[in-house]
Amino acid sequence: CGIIAYCGHRPAAPVILEGLKRLEYRGYDSAGLAVPQGGALRVVRKPGKLAELEKAVPEAGNIMNATHGMGHTRWATHGSPSERNAHPHLDCKGSLALVHNGIIENYQEIKTDLAAKGYTFSSDTDSEVLANLIAEGLTHKASVPEAISWALSRAEGAYAIVVMHKDHPGQIWGARQTSPLVMGLGVGEIFLASDIPAFLPYTREVVFLEDGELVQMDAGSWKVMDAATLAPVEKQTHTITWDV
Ligand code: GLU
Repeated sequence: CGIIAYCGHRPAAPVILEGLKRLEYRGYDSAGLAVPQGGALRVVRKPGKLAELEKAVPEAGNIMNATHGMGHTRWATHGSPSERNAHPHLDCKGSLALVHNGIIENYQEIKTDLAAKGYTFSSDTDSEVLANLIAEGLTHKASVPEAISWALSRAEGAYAIVVMHKDHPGQIWGARQTSPLVMGLGVGEIFLASDIPAFLPYTREVVFLEDGELVQMDAGSWKVMDAATLAPVEKQTHTITWDV
């Protein structure tokens, strides 16, 4: 239900936890975050209040060193509120992590196809299916944005997604259809979130993503593309003048 992602120079976990708190008004039943760690992706998830996630994070290894990452507060639509259904979700090979707001309407059909190809699932969510569909895309597409584009052309429904890949620890991708996603541009740091308050203490320069757009970002650069063709899209920057 709430998403915040960060590419920058600060420890990402506290930025993500604070961002999730500022999105609490959206409602949630569980929360989680993912950061790159030693060539893999480290995921921490907890049902219940954000305080539970916060307690789990410092105990969970070297997470505080990561300067990139993403977090999610979940409002369950497919699968009970539990740790295994909380986001982020990894694909079954552990190569990419995904957070998702919304509903993938045709997830059952996609899940059946993927299961026949040997993909396995460890949650009851529609979102984990999309993580595996992007992984399937990567078996025949040359890049992560191409794999995301391929997967989204097969997914029906409403979504805002953010994706990280273990082999590209400095990069984050996002895309939306119906559910909101907005980018915040700082100096040497970029944010991507469901709503502006998530990153407003850090920057007032924002770029609103529209339906059918895909963004690729790192700490110092970003580009918005048409999610179907990957053609570049010209975007305007807006300055936020209000406070929360
Ligand atoms: N449909 C997804 C789930 O049930 C995402 C829910 C949300 O928007 O938080 O896990």
